[in-house]
Amino acid sequence: MTGTALTLRAFPDLFPDEDAARGWFERARWPDGPICPVCGCVNRACWLRTIRRWQCTACHRQFSVTAGTPMHRTHLSVNHSQREYARTDSAAGHRVHVNRVESFNGLLGRAVVGLFHFVSPKHLGRYAGEAAFRWNRKADACLERMAMLVRGGVGRTLPYRFLTGTA
Ligand SMILES: [Zn+2]
Repeated sequence: MTGTALTLRAFPDLFPDEDAARGWFERARWPDGPICPVCGCVNRACWLRTIRRWQCTACHRQFSVTAGTPMHRTHLSVNHSQREYARTDSAAGHRVHVNRVESFNGLLGRAVVGLFHFVSPKHLGRYAGEAAFRWNRKADACLERMAMLVRGGVGRTLPYRFLTGTA
């Protein structure tokens, strides 16, 4: 897909199920084949179809495409026909959002009011950073921005216990 516009209605066609979303995520994260997050071997993993995970042929560890990213333990697809546009893994506290922007302040303001509902001053920088990422990349094609987010999220997890200060 080319161009910058990617509507919510286009998502079900692009990602009709979890496998399609995972495939896209894998191509974005690993253009040269799966990379073992444990030993770093490139394209030396077997796909375990029944459990939908990769297994490294060198160190035998199993991993998913979301390992070591903020998307770890989340679902990669949502059911738009059921008016589902974000899915939260309550254990991990991660969320995937899709928004349009008119201006940065509008974007951040709408996000605070309509999306986050409450913004802790402790984490305001994180909310603003997320809005800035979207603002700075608004001219990019949506799928390109999503791929950039995938690559930029590798190794940048934020455990819920750390986020809440209970660690
Ligand atoms: Zn390995």
